[in-house]
Amino acid sequence: TDFGFTRVPLDEKQGRVNEVFRSVAQRYDLMNDLMSGGLHRAWKSALISTLRPSRTRPFDLLDVAGGTGDIAFRALEAGGPDTRVTVLDINDAMLGVGRERAGGRFGGRIAFVAGNAEALPLPDRAFDAYTIAFGIRNVPRIERALAEAHRVLRVGGRFLCLEFSHVDVPGLDRIYDAYSFRVIPRLGEWVAGDKESYRYLVESIRRFPTPGAFEGMIAEAGFARVSHRRLSGGICAIHSGWKL
Ligand code: SAM
Repeated sequence: TDFGFTRVPLDEKQGRVNEVFRSVAQRYDLMNDLMSGGLHRAWKSALISTLRPSRTRPFDLLDVAGGTGDIAFRALEAGGPDTRVTVLDINDAMLGVGRERAGGRFGGRIAFVAGNAEALPLPDRAFDAYTIAFGIRNVPRIERALAEAHRVLRVGGRFLCLEFSHVDVPGLDRIYDAYSFRVIPRLGEWVAGDKESYRYLVESIRRFPTPGAFEGMIAEAGFARVSHRRLSGGICAIHSGWKL
């Protein structure tokens, strides 16, 4: 099924994506819980257990497309007193919700930065880890985002990406399709008053590269020991690479 929503030139895609997240920012967290039946929490926890932020040494994490702060908060809770997180997002509506949710909880250990994953406003070799959760799918030029991830990581640093993937469990694939194309846009309409944004969501998941292809792109950007792990029958995958 093609809703004709993402067949737009690359330069237009970012504008559309920004409209989507501006429109859903206030309801974003609620929608995540509703649409994934709370599963996004388990997927995010899986990302943090893979990341294992140091509890004893300084650990600088950059969370790109960090939105309303879910990954950052979890990393700060799992890490030690010298874990610091920079949340970067292109959308100030999403960052605003994140700032509000953080309140004063983490003091100076969290920073919110507006910026584009394709051209990070950050210095070279400044981070021990780079995470991006449900974000890279929205970036028009994924290879640029990967090159930037490599640039800002220190040697020995790790790239981790949590993203929707491709279900390949017979039976589950049909249920997942029905759910994606029938239920999600309707939920989007009822709860966020925005069906189109959630059609975009479903469509962008379908277009995302398979795990094998995405691994190739990560390696192409210069990462070593590239691997991936499927979650929930392939609904999501965590891709990993090291800057060595
Ligand atoms: N990481 C959060 C989470 O897991 O809940 C938010 C994910 S949300 C589905 C995708 C986010 O990507 C949005 O906040 C959006 O503004 C951001 N985004 C889209 N394009 C971006 C870009 N080019 N650079 C940085 N962030 C971008």
